[in-house]
Amino acid sequence: MLAHKQEGIVIVLSGPSGAGKGTLCEHLREQIDINYSISATTRDPRPGEKDQVDYFFMTREAFKEKIKADGFLEWAEVYKNYYGTPLDYVEEQVQAGKDVMIEIDPQGAKQVKLKKSDAVLVFIMPPSFAELERRIRGRGTESEEQIRHRLGNAMNEINTLTAYDYVIVNDDIHEATADLQAIINAEKCRVEHN
Ligand code: 5GP
Repeated sequence: MLAHKQEGIVIVLSGPSGAGKGTLCEHLREQIDINYSISATTRDPRPGEKDQVDYFFMTREAFKEKIKADGFLEWAEVYKNYYGTPLDYVEEQVQAGKDVMIEIDPQGAKQVKLKKSDAVLVFIMPPSFAELERRIRGRGTESEEQIRHRLGNAMNEINTLTAYDYVIVNDDIHEATADLQAIINAEKCRVEHN
């Protein structure tokens, strides 16, 4: 039987820290109606970040309890902190026919694909390594050690590219936003073969 998708779609966005995922999501928000999953994390809030808006900031103990209770669609340890996607929100939205964007690291993206094979995995690439370093340093929120760690990690993340369905090079934010919008539109038109 052939049918158009009734449920909402899950779009997973990953890419090195500094690739511009946050800005891309902000631009996309102005263009289309899509829900964003808010992750839980055990890391400290950065200046200006708000609890329940940017992340659900949790203690390690509370996070581990939620893992035990099967409360996450996926979770991973990134930069010595735990990060996870609360399961209920994603399920509720998808069942209600609404699309959900999840911004997570490649370990988490792989877990989502295993659980939801029709999730669409999109990788955001910085135009160059030098530009990535410039963006991370320009943010001014990480220590030198954290910056080096994030740059090292960026290489490992880029090596996971083959697990993704699409890659967008974020050279120009407007073009990158248009590309992401086109991918979402196309995926929503996909025919299901049952
Ligand atoms: P940041 O500390 O810069 O906000 O995020 C660090 C990394 O954690 C980024 O690569 C981001 O994509 C990833 N991340 C954020 N939320 C989640 C999550 O819920 N699950 C996983 N697996 N990674 C996440």
